[in-house]
Amino acid sequence: MAHTKIQDERSERAKRKNSNIDQQLEGGELGPEQHGQIISHFGRQVDVEALEGEHRGEIFRCHMRTNLSSLVTGDRVIWRAGAEHGVVVATEERQSVLQRPNNHGELKPVAANIDHIVITIAVEPMPHYNLIDRYLVAAEVSGIEPVLLVNKQDLLNDDNREYIEGMIRLYTDIGYKVLQVSTTREDGLDELKAILNGRISVFVGQSGVGKSSLINALLPGVDLKVGALSEATRKGTHTTTTARLFHFPDGGDLIDSPGIREFALWHIEKDRIIEGFTEFAPFLGLCKFRDCQHEQEPHCAIKQAIEDQKSVLKE
Ligand code: GDP
Ligand code: ZN
Repeated sequence: MAHTKIQDERSERAKRKNSNIDQQLEGGELGPEQHGQIISHFGRQVDVEALEGEHRGEIFRCHMRTNLSSLVTGDRVIWRAGAEHGVVVATEERQSVLQRPNNHGELKPVAANIDHIVITIAVEPMPHYNLIDRYLVAAEVSGIEPVLLVNKQDLLNDDNREYIEGMIRLYTDIGYKVLQVSTTREDGLDELKAILNGRISVFVGQSGVGKSSLINALLPGVDLKVGALSEATRKGTHTTTTARLFHFPDGGDLIDSPGIREFALWHIEKDRIIEGFTEFAPFLGLCKFRDCQHEQEPHCAIKQAIEDQKSVLKE
């Protein structure tokens, strides 16, 4: 009972607030419509960066017009400045969207308009193919270009060199861009900056590979705590932490949150997984059975392709 009452009061309050927003919109107290981008959001409020006009680059706290579907960091919007708060009046079409399932299994957008998923691995902890594939599949399924970044090149030695170089060769042969950097030695960072320039990127990867260190090197002054961040997120608050958009001083943007860094571990539908392995694309749909699971079925084009590749490698 008490619970319902609280909810009623909440929705009453929300209604009053919405009619305030609508009054503001009708009352002509707001500035002209202009383009902006969501930098961060907090429930029914968002921080919008002005993309034009005399306040370009400045950030404004805004309410959202009632009829707007959920906005996320990275969304481009039309907004109007107000005396205290601005109002977002429309959203623009998304180029891409990262989605994750909520507790009820419904996919919800987390961030929009990302161009690049930088899959960060390191010489140590030793990277495993199955985890990298998971990241690649998740990126492909989201329609966002993945880039492989191999950090801690300074730790290459005679024990791990062959394994790491073989891995780099394999993913390069499939057609992926692979970058080799050392954050501590600042090797390869210029090449990385060139790739980030002009695009919106996210960094994903298992903990300990150096994501915070890299981001700190690229975003001086922001100070995402090295090591400590992953400690804090293990305490279970990470799913509610909002994603935030940062500008790299040398060009390009970063969208980051502890939740986004775990991106590949989100749910992907089984049918879509095979589509994420782009090297199998030429063979999809060629199996004898339309519902082939590529396991025990005869005349499976996928298993055949693997056999053919094995015999090519043997020759
Ligand atoms: P995250 O969990 O992915 O954010 O990784 P952190 O940035 O917290 O880094 C994990 C550890 O790796 C820290 O002790 C860093 O100092 C170290 N580290 C980061 N980059 C490099 C690198 O290029 N070389 C070496 N040797 N260590 C690094
Ligand atoms: Zn098959």
